[in-house]
Amino acid sequence: MKPIKIGLVGVGAIARSQHIPALRENPLFKLEACASRNAHVEGIDNFASFEGMLDARPDLDAVTICTPPQVHYDAARLALTRGKHVFLEKPPCATTAQLDHLALLARQSNCVLLQSWHSRHAAAVYATQRMLEGRAVRTIRITWKEDVRQWHPGQEWIWRAGGFGVFDPGINALSILTKILPRAVFVNEAHLYIPENCQAPIAADLNLSTDAGTPIAANFDFRHTGLQTWDIDIETEEGSLRLSEGGNRLFADGKPVATAEVEGEYPSLYRHFADLVAKGVSDVDARPFQLVADAFLVGTRMIVDRFDP
Ligand code: NAP
Repeated sequence: MKPIKIGLVGVGAIARSQHIPALRENPLFKLEACASRNAHVEGIDNFASFEGMLDARPDLDAVTICTPPQVHYDAARLALTRGKHVFLEKPPCATTAQLDHLALLARQSNCVLLQSWHSRHAAAVYATQRMLEGRAVRTIRITWKEDVRQWHPGQEWIWRAGGFGVFDPGINALSILTKILPRAVFVNEAHLYIPENCQAPIAADLNLSTDAGTPIAANFDFRHTGLQTWDIDIETEEGSLRLSEGGNRLFADGKPVATAEVEGEYPSLYRHFADLVAKGVSDVDARPFQLVADAFLVGTRMIVDRFDP
């Protein structure tokens, strides 16, 4: 099979740390071009605009979109209407209706849309999902606390309207939750802590539940220094599970559970994307995004101290 010729839009932190290395190591893809206003990638065609890239390289089969979420829809729409398969970074779009429309455009243009949730590809997520099958869950607690200055230096977009604030990492936890639980999940209450000089929350407390009434508490905090924490604690009738390190390690009753050797989140995502392209099938799951939107709908807003990155 000929490699999928791919272009990349938005050369920033995640493009450089994950997408470009994963693409360069995967023989199913050939990274041919990128579009970025201020960045340059050695050894491929570089363009200052996405439209310029599509005009100059009509032979591209697919594009990966790594821009901030506020501009995901426009880029993905342009790609789909030009007949390109799309790998779309999380969070998918600025609004939920935009994502619905992209899924429709993908169907109409016979293109594949991979609306990615990278944390679902972490090493221990599948094992956790399997262990929960048939178990009665009593409670779930999500603790997702990280230092925004360490992980998002200089990213002003995250604090603007549509930038998601602490939900940028928090949506990763919700993507795991909705993957491992075979039930509907609802937001009952939310407290959103918004710095007085920002439009997006720096912290959030969510009270959720499943359709079976299982309580789920989530605490997201961007102000956390020291040990970074990305844990999901699950109490079941048969004992406790801790999915730790952003989905990468699993403990049952405090003891580590061995998980299968995995290739890494982004190599796994690109293998999935190549498989979807071969089958002509899209992968879109709006549930984590819907939960964030619902938290904004029912959330009580609390104005907190200004934040200067
Ligand atoms: P980033 O470092 O800010 O990079 C995004 C790039 O997009 C920028 O460098 C910029 O490059 C380009 N861009 C195009 N339009 C833009 C606009 N209107 N405002 C700002 N930049 C614009 O962000 P990132 O961390 O790579 O995140 C990008 C996406 O990946 C986000 O949706 C994020 O949630 C997701 N993601 C990030 C991580 C992570 O750890 N960082 C992990 C997983 C997923 P030019 O100026 O050169 O055009």
